[in-house]
Amino acid sequence: MANSASKTLLKGLSLSQLEDFVQRQGMQPYRARQLFHWMYRKNVPLIAEMTTLKKSVREFLETHAEINLLRLSHAITSEYEPAQKFLFELPDAERVESVYMEADNRRTICVSSQAGCALKCDFCATGLMGQIRNLTPGEIVDQVLWVERHTKKEATNVVMMGMGEPFLNYDAVIQAAELMSHPDGIAISKRKITISTSGIIPAILRFADEGQRFKLAISLNATTAEDRRRLMPITKKFTLAKLLDAARYYTERSGQRVTFEYVLLRHVNDSLLDAKRLRRLLANIPCKINLIPYNAVDLGYESSTEERIQQFVSELATFPAPVTVRRSQGRDIQAACGQLFVQRADQKARRRSRALSM
Ligand code: SF4
Repeated sequence: MANSASKTLLKGLSLSQLEDFVQRQGMQPYRARQLFHWMYRKNVPLIAEMTTLKKSVREFLETHAEINLLRLSHAITSEYEPAQKFLFELPDAERVESVYMEADNRRTICVSSQAGCALKCDFCATGLMGQIRNLTPGEIVDQVLWVERHTKKEATNVVMMGMGEPFLNYDAVIQAAELMSHPDGIAISKRKITISTSGIIPAILRFADEGQRFKLAISLNATTAEDRRRLMPITKKFTLAKLLDAARYYTERSGQRVTFEYVLLRHVNDSLLDAKRLRRLLANIPCKINLIPYNAVDLGYESSTEERIQQFVSELATFPAPVTVRRSQGRDIQAACGQLFVQRADQKARRRSRALSM
């Protein structure tokens, strides 16, 4: 892939694609493995730092190739928790967010798979942006590399729960996940890389049929077809009943559990009746349930109270599989996807309108 200045973008290329690249440039084949190692294992930000390459090779690459795909646009560090949020600018000036979180000896990076999102879930700030474009494998994997460099910490887990619907960018997401898990590169275990979908059924079936070993999560968020259609319009195309069938199919084909994520929205989906229905809906699917207190955005939804969360959890006490509550990190850094982007866009718009009215 070449950018507008006709430089080849190396970040995101697999080892075999790098082999094609070095062959086309008339370089020795072993240069591909060196490039792979420097980009994904040593995580250097500059070609000039690839010191096992001859100076003439480095100079050639600096003229004809690029390895940096992200420019930091804004960062916020939580005052209360080990969490940071980053807003990145892509080569075409589109922007995406990533989040770094630490908890229970896990260092997790949440990455975006698309700039914007077409699915317009009613409670999600990213949905307000609409669809902009898919990210390339390099733009996805570079979020992990950039955050690891910046925090000086190696991630133990990656979740594709940032901006966008990963399964509407399936090939790039799988290639990026392969790069994250490659033993000669970033080397994160496949079972520590979670791909979270809102319910793109054909992609769930494909993921199962391909025998992918990455973890699958499904963002459920409602216990009736009607509620889910209202919260997540994608349900009009892929119904709740068929989504649950697809989840069951995945567990049968893969022998793995699926994680159901459930964002708790106060007085919308957090009643005891919802908890009862959730238990019934998922009773026959090998799964885990991850309850996620909502990070309120200005969209008319509120977080469940601690009391309602506890009641919801108690109602699930007899559920025959793990139920966890993600203690929401980063309330003070707008950690839910799209919040930082929308907030910054708002600030820009306000500044522009102030300037116009002066
Ligand atoms: S929740 Fe996920 S799928 Fe829904 S609009 Fe937001 S980014 Fe898209």
